[in-house]
Amino acid sequence: MKNELKEYASGFKLTHLFMILGALLIGASIIAQAFLTVEIVNKVFVNKTSFEEIVPFLISLLLVLMLRPFLSYLMGRAGVTMAASVKQRLRQALFDKFSREALLTSHQGQSGQKVSVILDAVDEIDAYYSKYIPQVFKTAVIPIFILMAVSTQHIETGLIMMVTAPFIPLFYIIIGIRTQKKSEEKIEQMTVFSGRFLDTIQGLTTLNLFQKSKKYRAIIEESSLNYRDATIEVLKVAFVSSLMLELISMLSIGIIALEIGLRLIVFNSMSFATAFFLLILAPEFYLSLKELGSAFHTGRGSMSAMRKISEELRRENEEVRWGDCLIRSEEPPKITLKNVSYQYSDSQFALSSVNFKIEPYSKTAIIGRSGSGKSTLLNIIAGLLPPQQGEITINDDPLTSIKEESWFSQISYISQSPYLFTGTIAENICIGSKNVSQAEMEEAAEKAGISAFVASLEEGYETIIGESGRGLSGGEKQRMALARAFLKKPTVILFDEPTTGLDLYTEKVLQTALNSLSENATMIIVAHRLHTIRKADHIIVVDQGKVMTEGTDNSLYESSELYRQMVSAQAEEVIL
Ligand code: ADP
Ligand code: MG
Repeated sequence: MKNELKEYASGFKLTHLFMILGALLIGASIIAQAFLTVEIVNKVFVNKTSFEEIVPFLISLLLVLMLRPFLSYLMGRAGVTMAASVKQRLRQALFDKFSREALLTSHQGQSGQKVSVILDAVDEIDAYYSKYIPQVFKTAVIPIFILMAVSTQHIETGLIMMVTAPFIPLFYIIIGIRTQKKSEEKIEQMTVFSGRFLDTIQGLTTLNLFQKSKKYRAIIEESSLNYRDATIEVLKVAFVSSLMLELISMLSIGIIALEIGLRLIVFNSMSFATAFFLLILAPEFYLSLKELGSAFHTGRGSMSAMRKISEELRRENEEVRWGDCLIRSEEPPKITLKNVSYQYSDSQFALSSVNFKIEPYSKTAIIGRSGSGKSTLLNIIAGLLPPQQGEITINDDPLTSIKEESWFSQISYISQSPYLFTGTIAENICIGSKNVSQAEMEEAAEKAGISAFVASLEEGYETIIGESGRGLSGGEKQRMALARAFLKKPTVILFDEPTTGLDLYTEKVLQTALNSLSENATMIIVAHRLHTIRKADHIIVVDQGKVMTEGTDNSLYESSELYRQMVSAQAEEVIL
């Protein structure tokens, strides 16, 4: 099994060196502590020395006693620092990945789970660096120190230690293998639980409207109970395992004590000082082995969290690849879709083998029922989603050969919910255009039909709006995006027409705005209004991810039953 946590740690050479040094000092202080304790007791009770003589020993013992926790603390600190830096890198990597896939990540039902992966799994790797790694160094050094010290005094005790020691790691390997699956299950349950929780909270209004909140309460309850059970399972194994480890080390210490006792009392072949020294060190020996065991359990959790994170990071990146050709012409380009197919990784829906041409300066309307794939198609043409098959060409060059900025500087995409960032209205309109004067900005707002609304605000264009445009209606957000388009003067305009009925004024403003924008640009509109459809030069009818037919209003009215149905259903209304 590849251990990525270890790979991440490998960059911290200095920290490792520091930990080795710390472990050596701790090892030395354990021996010193045992030696000093024995000396003091031996002097006071066996040799009956005066108090003054043992004072230096007492002071040294005090210093050594303080040194040990201090060193352990420093090692833990070093581990925490290491963890913080690795966590920072992982979080950054996850955020980068999610923001590159914003279109997919923000799809309903996914966001909650991903937030949980970021926040919880990343934090779970802490223990590996702050507990497990320092303990590995301690356990690599301290038992050997003790073994050497013990063996020089009494080789038989050393031998008993050597024979019994392997049982402890052996046991925690067996137990570790058993808990690994369980703690992975626990993380899985946690992800499901918090995903459900967050998504339910976000959708609470909707759920209430449909009187489904009771059902979701049951769902949340169930997944929280599952999470509880998974946690308890892990704890159960952990408790049983620590009992077993305790038992082994107690037995081993017992054997050593018995052996020493026999020599001290029955055979009289050992001094009190040696026996005492050995008896102090024996528990220390097993303690550091046991500590590795429990640190290892904590580390296990980190490893399964890490696996979850790297799975997420390695997942095939759904990202449009770009080249470095520039679009030279100032004229609108010819856009061609050849056999374009796309499937969302987590949905049944598939756009299959889409073919069509869009001529410069033309007006194309894409129509179809809700869920037929119109917005998906628009996202693909915009270069926001990568087709899995086929290609899009711009003036006969593949879109993938074009430089990202060169393409995005040509297009304006007015989606159904345009993104607005936290800032003033003026800043939001000017994004995407350079060196815009106040007058130009106001003119664009005027043309987009937003100026009256802005004038009604106390602070006008300096009014601060929230992220994703909190406080603005869908129509207002779209008009903000239109104003951006007026400033940018794109050669291609992609417009996802609002499905909700607009008031007459807004409707008229949108119409004039689009007419004036389309004078210098190609228009591709996902159309819902009969008016827009009738005025298009080219109509593409999609259904269930396929292009069913295409043509002009007249030709389609003659040839397509589907088109006649769609258009005549509700004349002059919002039809789709
Ligand atoms: P339309 O715009 O024609 O109403 P869409 O293109 O928005 O249709 O959606 C087509 C299908 O793809 C729907 O079934 C929708 O649930 C699904 N879909 C849309 N966006 C995503 C996404 N980000 N992840 C997974 N499925 C999606
Ligand atoms: Mg749509």
